[in-house]
Amino acid sequence: MKPTFIHNLVNSPFEDPSLFVRITREKRAFLFDIGNINALKPRDLQKITDVFVTHTHIDHFIGFDTLLRALLRREIPLRVYGPSNITDCVEGKLRGYTWNLIKEYPLTIDVFSVNGDRILSSSFSSENNFRRIDNNISEFNGIILREPLFTIKAIQLDHQIPCLAFSAEEEFHININKVILKKMGLPVGPWLSDFKKAVREQMPGDMEFIISNKRYKLDNLRNIAKITKGQKIAYVTDVSIDAGNIKNIIGFVSGSDTLYCEAYFMEEDRERALERFHLTSTVTGKIAKEAGVKNLVVMHFSPKYRTNSDTPEDEAMREFRHSGR
Ligand SMILES: [Zn+2]
Ligand SMILES: [Zn+2]
Repeated sequence: MKPTFIHNLVNSPFEDPSLFVRITREKRAFLFDIGNINALKPRDLQKITDVFVTHTHIDHFIGFDTLLRALLRREIPLRVYGPSNITDCVEGKLRGYTWNLIKEYPLTIDVFSVNGDRILSSSFSSENNFRRIDNNISEFNGIILREPLFTIKAIQLDHQIPCLAFSAEEEFHININKVILKKMGLPVGPWLSDFKKAVREQMPGDMEFIISNKRYKLDNLRNIAKITKGQKIAYVTDVSIDAGNIKNIIGFVSGSDTLYCEAYFMEEDRERALERFHLTSTVTGKIAKEAGVKNLVVMHFSPKYRTNSDTPEDEAMREFRHSGR
């Protein structure tokens, strides 16, 4: 079974955090945070349609320029989502350059800033020399992007400044039962993608498919689809250790297949973690365990542990796998 999301950190855990998520059925990709992304290949950059930024500290946002430069001639818009100041930060980046020769370029950047219970959408288009246009304000109810295949949710956490965490959730996963397919005498082929799309989009049962020159109704094909729970990945970084944050994170990431979470400090440096509004690896391990996540990937370590034999990952995993609940 091919997963819908294929996800990998762009860098080692001692470098800038950025998670690259490929959507297998759509030839597109997302980025969660946009730190240094020089390790991504040009063809990967071209796939990125949506960037979800937790906050705009430099280690989470410096890669915006790299992506902008790669996408200037792309027709498909780039969408950027972030906390309340994200639009100002994108505008500031764009104002840092001179744009008198880009009128014929097609790129538009749509920015969505989450502020309390509202989302403000703005856009910057190259034909307009990237001047900011504020569009509309909509209600924020926890969901920042919904498509037939998946939903992206966000939660507002505290890092002295507002910081978002994100999850990507597939509604459900459709597997094709090959045994039934064979019994019905149906061939494997591209029609299966159309069929899955129709199921996902809840099309009417009399929708027709032409397979090997024969007509079939959607309702008569339903037996070949086996529906299972969809994939869920979550991304949490740069949050302070306080009871409210931790309770909210546990609820938000609950049941994830994979949780990507910071472990900037180790427990021996808890004081420092509190001063810098970061988690410790022990707290990260506890959150993952309590939330019942299947896999924990820790990231964003302080460089001070580079030569440690006991790493932030070791510490987090001891806590995560500790069985004495
Ligand atoms: Zn950071
Ligand atoms: Zn930060």
